[in-house]
Amino acid sequence: MNSQGTRTIDVRVEWTKSGIPTEQMLIDAAAAGLVSRKDEPYSEFVEDIDTDRAKSFLAKMIKLGHESVLEHIVFQFWLGMSRVASHQQVRHRMASYTQMSLRQERNLTTEAFVVPPQIKEEDLEDWLQDIQSTIDSYRKWLDKGYDVDVARRRLTQDARTDMVMTINARSLRNFFDLRAKHDADFEIHEVAKKMYTLIKKEGLSFLFEDIGLE
Ligand SMILES: Cc1cc2nc3c(=O)[nH]c(=O)nc-3n(C[C@H](O)[C@H](O)[C@H](O)COP(=O)(O)OP(=O)(O)OC[C@H]3O[C@@H](n4cnc5c(N)ncnc54)[C@H](O)[C@@H]3O)c2cc1C
Repeated sequence: MNSQGTRTIDVRVEWTKSGIPTEQMLIDAAAAGLVSRKDEPYSEFVEDIDTDRAKSFLAKMIKLGHESVLEHIVFQFWLGMSRVASHQQVRHRMASYTQMSLRQERNLTTEAFVVPPQIKEEDLEDWLQDIQSTIDSYRKWLDKGYDVDVARRRLTQDARTDMVMTINARSLRNFFDLRAKHDADFEIHEVAKKMYTLIKKEGLSFLFEDIGLE
């Protein structure tokens, strides 16, 4: 729920402990770009690059389309979403993922499912009952003695999952281009928007501004 009492899209996006690219990483990426242009050895020009110079050089690289330089800048997020959205998320192959396993037996409650905010207040109870039926079905097959590998097949795609994603700036630009702008599914669209909000707070939006995000 937000402050107006309306339900929000219940996806979660956080930085991991070392997920924010450091200033040194930006400098190193710019230095990598300069390797392609300088005659002098690396050690002679690298000391002259400060954060501001690195940022303006990287912005210039983006304008020129020399985007491989951006692969030296790496982001890492903790994400929480439904399995519907996570299936879309992992289609972005130019990233690394570690996702919650459902091979472990779980004590599920309705909280373990993402409720779409489109569900009207008068239908919410009905929707939650359907989730409860899913949980009951999962439990039934476990109680019959079946392995969790079998029981988990009763779970629906709105079951919540967590994952850690590591992605470089070049690939993240592609992700934003596809998922933060267009008519993407509402959950993954929200994931992309939340990521971009975190990035903006860290003063790193210059890497994505030309994409024209909402
Ligand atoms: C609105 C929308 C609807 C969609 N609907 C469907 C759908 O109905 N069915 C479906 O299957 N998918 C669908 N997708 C997923 C889409 O086809 C892509 O798989 C997904 O968006 C990942 O994009 P990507 O391949 O660019 O990203 P990544 O996998 O991260 O790849 C990044 C880039 O690397 C290059 N690359 C990666 N792998 C290869 C390769 N094997 N060969 C050549 N170049 C490669 C490409 O340039 C690619 O853009 C949809 C996506 C969107 C945004």
